[in-house]
Amino acid sequence: MERRAIAISGTIQGVGFRPFVHGLASRLELGGCVRNHTGGVAIEVEGDPHRLDEFLNLLVTHPPPLARIDELSWKSAPICGDAAFRIEPSECDNHGTVVIPPDIATCDQCLAELFDPTDRRFGYPFLNCTKCGPRLTIINAAPYDRSRTSMAPFPMCAACRNEYEDPGNRRFHAQPTACPACGPRLTAVDPGGDHVASGSEALDRTVAMLVMGKLAAIKGLGGYHLACDARSPLAVSQLRQRKNRDEKPFAVMVPSIDAARALCDVNDSEATLLSSPARPIVLLRKLGRSAVAEAVAPGNPFLGVMLPYTPLHHLLLHDLGPDAVLVMTSGNRSDEPIAYKDDDARERLAKIADIFLIHDRAIHVRCDDSVWRVIDGQESPIRRSRGYAPRPIALPVACGEPVLAVGGQLKATFALGRDRQAVLSHHAGDLDNYEAYRAFERDITLYEQLFRVTPKVIALDLHPDYASTRYALRRAAAEGLEVVAVQHHHAHLASCMADNGLVGDVIGVTFDGTGYGSDGNVWGGEFLVGGYEQFRRAAHLRYVAMPGGDRAIREPWRMALAHLADADLGDRLLRQRVAHASLRTAGRMLDRGFNAPLTSSAGRLFDAVASIAGVRDCVSYEGQAAMQLEWLATGAGGDAGTYPFEVAHEQIGDVIDTRPLIRAAADDIARGTSAAIIARRFHSTMVEIIASVCKTIARDSALDRVVLSGGVFMNALLTREAAARLEADGFRVYRHRLVPPNDGGLSLGQLAIVAAQVHRMPREGVRI
Ligand code: ZN
Ligand code: ZN
Ligand code: FE
Repeated sequence: MERRAIAISGTIQGVGFRPFVHGLASRLELGGCVRNHTGGVAIEVEGDPHRLDEFLNLLVTHPPPLARIDELSWKSAPICGDAAFRIEPSECDNHGTVVIPPDIATCDQCLAELFDPTDRRFGYPFLNCTKCGPRLTIINAAPYDRSRTSMAPFPMCAACRNEYEDPGNRRFHAQPTACPACGPRLTAVDPGGDHVASGSEALDRTVAMLVMGKLAAIKGLGGYHLACDARSPLAVSQLRQRKNRDEKPFAVMVPSIDAARALCDVNDSEATLLSSPARPIVLLRKLGRSAVAEAVAPGNPFLGVMLPYTPLHHLLLHDLGPDAVLVMTSGNRSDEPIAYKDDDARERLAKIADIFLIHDRAIHVRCDDSVWRVIDGQESPIRRSRGYAPRPIALPVACGEPVLAVGGQLKATFALGRDRQAVLSHHAGDLDNYEAYRAFERDITLYEQLFRVTPKVIALDLHPDYASTRYALRRAAAEGLEVVAVQHHHAHLASCMADNGLVGDVIGVTFDGTGYGSDGNVWGGEFLVGGYEQFRRAAHLRYVAMPGGDRAIREPWRMALAHLADADLGDRLLRQRVAHASLRTAGRMLDRGFNAPLTSSAGRLFDAVASIAGVRDCVSYEGQAAMQLEWLATGAGGDAGTYPFEVAHEQIGDVIDTRPLIRAAADDIARGTSAAIIARRFHSTMVEIIASVCKTIARDSALDRVVLSGGVFMNALLTREAAARLEADGFRVYRHRLVPPNDGGLSLGQLAIVAAQVHRMPREGVRI
């Protein structure tokens, strides 16, 4: 006989880990107990030493599907004579690192019950178990148990209670468990709020409306979706019109991988990602011909596709048939945040939807669908939200003190750090929207409570006008917190380092649209050298003005004008397409340097070239022109050569002179070269710039690791080719894997920087 005390940490709470341990120990006839505790799970087992070895072995090799064991250690303990194995109630101390799991797609066992006519949960749209169902989106306080979720108003029936209390049942301690007798119910209402139908009839009515080409608002896990038949051009164009959305692509939901294959190319990695428990929207390459209306993603070679992830989705798609393709886009008007409260949704979506399919389980945390793509077989995040947040990310350096990092302004996320763990929030949207900002504030408070982190240090972006910056400064003043301001691109570099668990110094190619520079200019085409503690700007794209400031982001022709003028080419090329008066006003801004901040942005260079090539002069959503340029270049294939550029060695660092590039592109236009070839040459030139500058930096610094970060690396073509080229040149290249390269990943970088600095610096230092 022997007794062992085992400590395990990782994602092991709320994923059915304790019932699994109970089952395993009982099967091996071991006595003892298991309980949640500070930072993980503690197990004590006693019995035959061989069986104890087998127990440990199976624990590590066959944990429940959603559990992730980060660390396991054990030591011998005095024998207690336990005959049976039991699950002890959770400890609720004030130091515990609590792990709240993300929302998880319906598991296979629940799915089987959903379509089994003999099961008591047959056709019940809210069934779930310890392995699946809502988590983050229903929580409103810690610790995580039913009374603090939106399941509180639904007392369990006797049958559900029995399952909940039976350690051998897969619903043991499944907080949101429910059945038709005791759980939430479906209702359909019309846009005026009048009751249409309940239960399965509500579902039938909605399906019938969708089949007729009508629009439905459907209450989901983290918010409302607007849905319509994606195969009906009329329905889709009506949705665009009512939602006031011009060209931004809609995502679709299909019933199966096979149905996805009827629309798009799906390779093995993409199929894995599509059917993973997180069920993100995956960007897939469209087939030449498919049933989907062009208006779903106009002019776009990609389509965002997802599989059903709640029982309600499964029922809907099942009733619509195996070939169904449903637009499932955020329930909002144009750029507002997704609606998630019933009254608000009713009000905002009344003029859009023809029917509302709703239910009486409240959504506490608004959480958008996640968006990913696969580049070269590697899963690459675009938006990390539902299904991923708030799963913790391991930090490469420990936080000396609890830290809150507030991120940026657009695609905002925040992050809480303690010890070696970062909890990155779901996608909070664009903080220039007041409602999104309010939710951002509230969710910070919620996360701090859920994860029991009381920050002592707060990290923010250097940009004085970001709503997140103002929040952080206000809060720091009120609570006497230490403030660390982090340069935007330094945060991008650190984010990609932390994402890959790197320490030390690296070369950071950080290309994005806009970030506040240490010199007060708008940075965005930066080659940084450094690590978490410090960085230097080794090289950057040549500064040009942005005539009209932020308007130059929405109107790429302004950037074309700035680059053409910088290359002494005047505005001749744009005169055909841009109103004379606008050109003159913008020209005057350039001449006088009025309302024309300087930028080294790579994103704006993409915009300029897109406009010069005649691809797009104005955009209806951020990054649209650059994306079209990418698609054109991808289609062009082959080796089309590159444009020239020069590198000037200046005191502040190397400056990449883009004028030769612009002149050559303008020459191409004069010769009648196609936009696709120009796009292709421009991409190759950017790869060449990256390779050449990295080589120079490596010669001076002896660094051979390169991180690629910033929103420009959402560009799959550039990412793929830059990485391949750098690797061929002997570099080790790191891309984002867990958090997006865009500003959605900033908070992680800020956190890692503070962790590394707070470690080494005295508390008194003011570092803003
Ligand atoms: Zn389940
Ligand atoms: Zn029940
Ligand atoms: Fe950025």
